[in-house]
This record gives sequence, structure tokens and C-alpha cells, in this order.
Amino acid sequence: MALYKTQAIVLKSMNLSESDRLVTFLTEDHGKVKCVAKGARKAKNCFWGSLEPMTQIHLIYFGKENQSLYRLNQSDIIESFQSIREDFAKLYTGIYFLELIDSMILEGHSDKHIYNLLQQTLTAVRQQSELGSLIRLFEIRLLSLSGYKPQIDHCIVCKTISENGIFRFSYIQNGIICKNCCNRVPTDIQFTTGTRNYIKKLLEVEIKNCGRIKIPKNQEGEVEKVTHRLVLSHLGREPKSYPFIKTMAQLI
Ligand SMILES: [Zn+2]
Repeated sequence: MALYKTQAIVLKSMNLSESDRLVTFLTEDHGKVKCVAKGARKAKNCFWGSLEPMTQIHLIYFGKENQSLYRLNQSDIIESFQSIREDFAKLYTGIYFLELIDSMILEGHSDKHIYNLLQQTLTAVRQQSELGSLIRLFEIRLLSLSGYKPQIDHCIVCKTISENGIFRFSYIQNGIICKNCCNRVPTDIQFTTGTRNYIKKLLEVEIKNCGRIKIPKNQEGEVEKVTHRLVLSHLGREPKSYPFIKTMAQLI
């Protein structure tokens, strides 16, 4: 038996039996981990409040190395992100981030950058009201960290550096196709230089400053067609929480 201590963020929590819960964490040091929290459903238990989705905790768990299910030993709250839960638009944004991580990251795949991405974007969601750019930033960076960074600097076939103008993009090739190559390689969408530059900024900006890069309203749809559509191609389905985000965006 090994004992593991690490920071973690709760991805999801479900009832396992009358007294126990099954909790999925993204840990800082060991990637995605599932733990049984014994007695977590009882009224007075030491895990109270710390196993809600989005909560960042100090986690201690134990079990045999490389097993699929561990036992939760201790969880102490670092940051509850309570203010996110009190605002529906922020809540669904946070839930969408958790769902993407849970769907796209396999257990056993450990990457501190993915943990930092989730921790820093949740912090930014708590602090700022402009959520659209954070959603696009999270999508494109999670894709990049998972090995699916789109090629938007040069043609993916002939490596020609694209000139300013219209960019043709292929979801299957995950990159731009130049004017000469698009006769041989089918493309799915076109977007402008402004959209290409905005996506590049999303990949480079410090997350806490994401709110400063404003996207013109007429380009929002173009950026979504690249980043969200790539998420769909990768997952093969629409994340359950995404329609709620769209609904909230229309209400605001
Ligand atoms: Zn080309």
C-alpha cells in the first residue's frame, strides 16, 4: 500500500452506496484519480464540503500502485470556488471545464500543465465577468496539451506560410490548407486573419490577463467554429454541459 499526498480539484462526485461516495479528482502530481470516500454520505463526516465538484483541496489517498480505485484518506479545502457556484453562467462554465477534463484526460496520464490550466482558469472565472474568451482559451489549450494543437501558422500539406487574408481550415487535418493545396485536400471552414491572430493570442496570453484580449463580436462565431468544433471532433460528441453555456450566453 502506498500513501499519496497531492493537491487536487474535484471533477465529479457520485453516490456509491448508502454511506460511500465515488469521487474523481484531477491531481497535480498523478493525473486523474478515482477514490472511494468511505462514510462521505453520513451527516457528520470529515470530508464534508470538500468533495463538491470544482473544489481545490489538499488530498491524501492510498492504495496499491497503478490500481484503478483508491481509498480517500483526507481532504482539506484550499479553495472552494463558492462564488462560481452562485452565478449560473460561471457555474456552467466551470462544469464544462470539469467535463472536458474528465472526458479528454485518461487515468494514469499525469501532466502538471493540465492541472495548472484548470486551476488558473477556474480562478479567472471567479475573478472576471467576460467568460467567452476564457471558454475558448480553455478549449484550445486543453487540445494543445492533449497533443491536438491545430497548425495555424502554415499550410499543413506544403508548409507554405499563409499570407494575410482568408484561411481555409480542415478539421481532419487539424490545420490550415493553402489556396494551392485545397484542390486536393478538402477544407471545412474559412476564417479571417483576425480570427487566426486571436487564436494565437489565446495560446500565448497569461490566463489571468485573458479578459484583456477582446474579440470582435463578428469573430466570436468563427473562433468557436475552430476551438469548439475541434473539441467535438476529438470527443466524438457534444459535451452535456455545453448547451447550458449557450443558453446562458443568450440570456445575458
Ligand atoms: Zn499548401
